[in-house]
Amino acid sequence: MIYGGDIHFFKRHFQPFRRYYISSAKLETVQPRYSTYSNEYCWVIDNSTVVQQVHESEPPMLPDIFNFKPYGRIYEHIDTDEEIDLLGVAIHVNPRAMRGPTPTREIIIVDERSSKNQEAFLKFIAERTYADRLNLIPAPVDDRVVTIKSLTTTNTKRPYWIRGIPNLLDRSQKMWYNACPICYKYLRARPNLEFDCTSCHKCIRVSPRCRLTVQLIDHTGSITLDLNGNDAEQLLPFTIVEIQKQEIQLDYTTIEDFIKQNNLVCLVKKTQNTYNSAAAAKYIAIIAHIRNSTPEELVVISKYTTNYATTSASWNNKLS
Ligand SMILES: [Zn+2]
Repeated sequence: MIYGGDIHFFKRHFQPFRRYYISSAKLETVQPRYSTYSNEYCWVIDNSTVVQQVHESEPPMLPDIFNFKPYGRIYEHIDTDEEIDLLGVAIHVNPRAMRGPTPTREIIIVDERSSKNQEAFLKFIAERTYADRLNLIPAPVDDRVVTIKSLTTTNTKRPYWIRGIPNLLDRSQKMWYNACPICYKYLRARPNLEFDCTSCHKCIRVSPRCRLTVQLIDHTGSITLDLNGNDAEQLLPFTIVEIQKQEIQLDYTTIEDFIKQNNLVCLVKKTQNTYNSAAAAKYIAIIAHIRNSTPEELVVISKYTTNYATTSASWNNKLS
């Protein structure tokens, strides 16, 4: 571990894939709260520690420390503590931007599929398809969907695909908020106000963004789910502009009826609710796809209490 000003001190000293002699480093117990790995102790190096590079013409091979994941399963690691590695070719590098005090840069990397269809990938960049969430996280086609009961009983901290029917939860909810149209930061500002966003630093015009809280139900249980942006708007019979117009006398009955006609397949994660652990856990949708079922499918769904794989296999049997 190197802290504070010592990080700057050693900035140019340590190089990847080189070995060093280190003398009189301090040994400390790792505070579990700050630990990112399983070691009990760590070395702390400061600017008085003697550090000398080992001069080797052929440094030893490093052990295989990579944890490569396929692109289609990256979403499984959202908000987990796991560190994963990706192998890819950078095909486009955007200019540096600032997010708060942190410099950021968007880089588009592709895996081996790009070499097979170059034309499609050039189109992919030109049309910014890579920024399209529905395309980036498509609805799963295999057995990755779990029941709501297994979602609520698992202790594993990672996002899960679930399937269910949404119901409007609270008839007094506002359904939109003012936000930055680029980084979606909530802003207490009047709509259409033009200014440099304090979060993403882009010149923006404050816009309404849809937000909806529903109860999502399947044959095993239900959860409270927050949906944002297009994921929420696709469930409404009105546009946000129409909703803003009828603000005082919003037609909640029509909205309620419309919402529950949809069948959602969504990737959800638990929200951090540390204030009241006794309250039912709340979830937020990372992405929500509408996948309306036929009446035959609905019959099968209500019959089976197994996961999506079994259910969809039964649909095929039933429908053929
Ligand atoms: Zn912004």
